[in-house]
Amino acid sequence: MGITTVGQLLDHAPRRYIRRGRIQALTELVAGERTSFVARVESSSTRRMRSDPRRSLTDVIVCDDSGASLKITFFNAYSAQKDLPVGSLALFTGKPEYYRGELAMTGADYAPVDTPESVLDATSDTGELLPIPVYPEAGKLTTPKLTRVLHQLLLTADLDSLPDPLSPELLAAQDLPPLGQAYRDLHRPETVAAYELARRRFRFQEAFVLQTELMRRRAEHAARPVDPRPPRPDGILARFDAALPFELTPGQREVGEQIAAELAGTAPMNRLLQGDVGSGKTVVALRAMLQVVDNGGQAAMLAPTEVLATQHHDKITAALGPLAAPGQLGGDPLATGVVLLTGSMPAAARRRALLDAASGAAGIVVGTHALIQDTVQFADLGLAVVDEQHRFGVEQRDALRAKAGQAPHTLVMTATPIPRTVAMTVFGDLDVSTLRELPGGRRPVETFVVGLAEHGPAWERRVWALAAEHVARGRQVYVVAPKIGDDAALPPFTSLRASLEAQQEDPEPATVTWLEELVAAQPELRAARTAVLHGRQDAQTKAGTMSGFAAGDIDVLVSTTVVEVGVDVPNATLMVVVDPERFGISQLHQLRGRIGRGEYASTCLLVTRAAPDHPARARLEAVAATTDGFELAEVDLQLRKEGDILGASQSGGRSGLRWVSALRDEALVARARTAAEAVIRADPDLSGHPVLRATIDRVLDEDRQAFLERG
Ligand code: ADP
Ligand code: MG
Repeated sequence: MGITTVGQLLDHAPRRYIRRGRIQALTELVAGERTSFVARVESSSTRRMRSDPRRSLTDVIVCDDSGASLKITFFNAYSAQKDLPVGSLALFTGKPEYYRGELAMTGADYAPVDTPESVLDATSDTGELLPIPVYPEAGKLTTPKLTRVLHQLLLTADLDSLPDPLSPELLAAQDLPPLGQAYRDLHRPETVAAYELARRRFRFQEAFVLQTELMRRRAEHAARPVDPRPPRPDGILARFDAALPFELTPGQREVGEQIAAELAGTAPMNRLLQGDVGSGKTVVALRAMLQVVDNGGQAAMLAPTEVLATQHHDKITAALGPLAAPGQLGGDPLATGVVLLTGSMPAAARRRALLDAASGAAGIVVGTHALIQDTVQFADLGLAVVDEQHRFGVEQRDALRAKAGQAPHTLVMTATPIPRTVAMTVFGDLDVSTLRELPGGRRPVETFVVGLAEHGPAWERRVWALAAEHVARGRQVYVVAPKIGDDAALPPFTSLRASLEAQQEDPEPATVTWLEELVAAQPELRAARTAVLHGRQDAQTKAGTMSGFAAGDIDVLVSTTVVEVGVDVPNATLMVVVDPERFGISQLHQLRGRIGRGEYASTCLLVTRAAPDHPARARLEAVAATTDGFELAEVDLQLRKEGDILGASQSGGRSGLRWVSALRDEALVARARTAAEAVIRADPDLSGHPVLRATIDRVLDEDRQAFLERG
């Protein structure tokens, strides 16, 4: 199980508890479910195994007051034969299975008892504990074994002298038990309330330890002053602003001012900038970089992949125009160098870029995380802009900081909306800014759920009629299917609705090939130019189709989710997603981001064959109800398993949230944060809190381990 120390064993918390009331009668047993019951031994017999005479089987038949009986078979268990004489009473724990049509059990953990009541009234003194902890198990390390080992440990270890990372004052203020008590109540609780309180303590402790570390880092950074880099009225930023072909949105302006003020100060900025794709984060980041350049500093832009780094470089160079052409004909006198650094660059170009970074000739260096961390020297790195936080963890930020001499300001950009609790826990050392509006007068997409199960065939006809209307107005339409499919296996249905009537529930997912047929069969769409796009086509075909669609030569594009990324056709105003319940919330949100990119109002139809009470319908309604990616991220968190979300956003290197739930624990995390702030304010380097400090080190170490193991 990866448990190598007594401390780790103590931290191996029960998954759940069988409560006192859950001791079952034999009539209530369910195959495959671990259970506990009190029963009397009716008969016991031992025989040699035919296949191996050196081994034996003991069959014990037990019965209880319900009158039912159960056969329990023990392998090689002379002790079972000895411990369970006929007529004796015991508490059994095990997992019944069907054997030749009857419930039976192979092996069981047992403890002899005096009377059934003595179990039900058991307290810790009598040795039979209720509630009964149930542990995460691995192979032969079953709950009874873990229970035995832990009981042994609780009896022998001096838990009350364990150093507690939570001070007595903090425990009192938060109304939580001390560490030793919490361990006892976790592994050997006498009441439900006791283990619940213990669990609350460990949840709080985890949040508090993490928050303290985040606050400590923050204080540490703040204590290392950096050169102020105030805005200049006559510099490259002013020149850039004057030439900007659009007005900044209020959100961009507000965040811009916030960042400008932080760059002008002496505490390093640590800011997370979140906003949907296309919300205008790049402009905000570029303006920050230019302010640093105006003060003789350099900015690095870090992207997770070479492709993205190259894209950023091209975009930034284009946006700067003459301001990115120093010393060139037509270049601006204030221009600064913008260089790209990727692993696959020709050696000569790379050397030149490295030289420009080291000499300071390049004001802006764009590259992949790895490259910039490993090889680049800067003359004066003042700002690191990191695209896509989830691939760039706390440790990488530290590495960059270390190489820059003084800590650079850090601006992290992400298009993945991060719910508040996750932001507080995983990215808690960052301040968060959010861009919520779309720039350029773009209109939010209107989204509707079209439920074919409850509405008749007329609704389906209206979907295609609407598509025809958009085409007639000169606009373009996406039709999205969850699968590609192939011609050989086209379903024999002439409409989505017909498939529903024939198949009743849970129809096969719609395919691109089938939808292409359906579109072609619509009288109104007969004149429409239709094409298909999916991942099984070769690159040339795909590129041809995409450029045809972009040029307006294709009216209706039937595709899989390949359109999810990198397609920008402002003239596309309708998206029909068929079987949208096959997609997740964020995927639908991303998909719909392909429309509403121009001046025209756009509509997204989620055409579902799922029944109105199908659980996935809630997701669809949520997507239809808001275009706010952040609100959707919260809904997503509520509706699906939170582990997915934490998992994804933690891949930056922090894996250690075992107790804290992003779903439930927002208030608890906020409390822990407040408490951590107070501790750090009074004792910034934790020199007066040695135990807390050691706990932090241990937790971080385990995290790092997990991170390394994951690769
Ligand atoms: P993000 O990085 O958040 O995905 P970008 O910064 O790339 O978004 O902006 C998306 C597009 O919107 C770009 O073409 C950009 O030039 C444009 N844009 C950004 N801000 C504005 C604005 N205030 N008004 C009009 N267009 C804008
Ligand atoms: Mg971007």
